[in-house]
Amino acid sequence: MFELITLPYAPDALAPVISAETIAFHHGKHLRTYVNNLNAAIAGTQYDGKSLEEIVCTAEGGIFNNAGQILNHNMYFLQFHGPRENNKPIGRIAELINAQYGSFDAFKEEFAAKGAGLFGSGWVWLSYDKNAEKLVITQEGNAGNPVTRGLKPVLTFDVWEHAYYIDYRNARPAYINAIWQIINWDEVNERIR
Ligand code: MN
Repeated sequence: MFELITLPYAPDALAPVISAETIAFHHGKHLRTYVNNLNAAIAGTQYDGKSLEEIVCTAEGGIFNNAGQILNHNMYFLQFHGPRENNKPIGRIAELINAQYGSFDAFKEEFAAKGAGLFGSGWVWLSYDKNAEKLVITQEGNAGNPVTRGLKPVLTFDVWEHAYYIDYRNARPAYINAIWQIINWDEVNERIR
């Protein structure tokens, strides 16, 4: 049985970047539905008792979609803190970004372009490729997660409309531009290890 994650911040803590109303729908309704659907779908199957990563790397169809959406949303919601002016990468992730993209601004530009350019519903990801010792930005449609490509995901922006429509209406680029203020770079560094 999977459980809906508890957010490590108050529902209004990310406002005005992400409103309490968006949190109520996105975490309280969308994510809860994926959890309920997955639990119902895996009961009594070979997937019962497996981790989300194991399910995502082996399942197809509805089980893959619901497990992927839980894995993706858990990473998404746990990477935030309240808005901070001039919020920037620190430590290891800052070193990797600067070495590979030249600057945080250049990195943000590439990441934002991949997010804005993803057609339909999906996710833009920053992952660490341990073998190449490099960062990689990928687009994943629907419930996709880079773990299925052998990558280690460290940062993700949900670009499904339900992630931004209440606060930004159709302006996906404005949403992408705003959420840099709430990224918890300590958490991103934890995920590189
Ligand atoms: Mn979502």
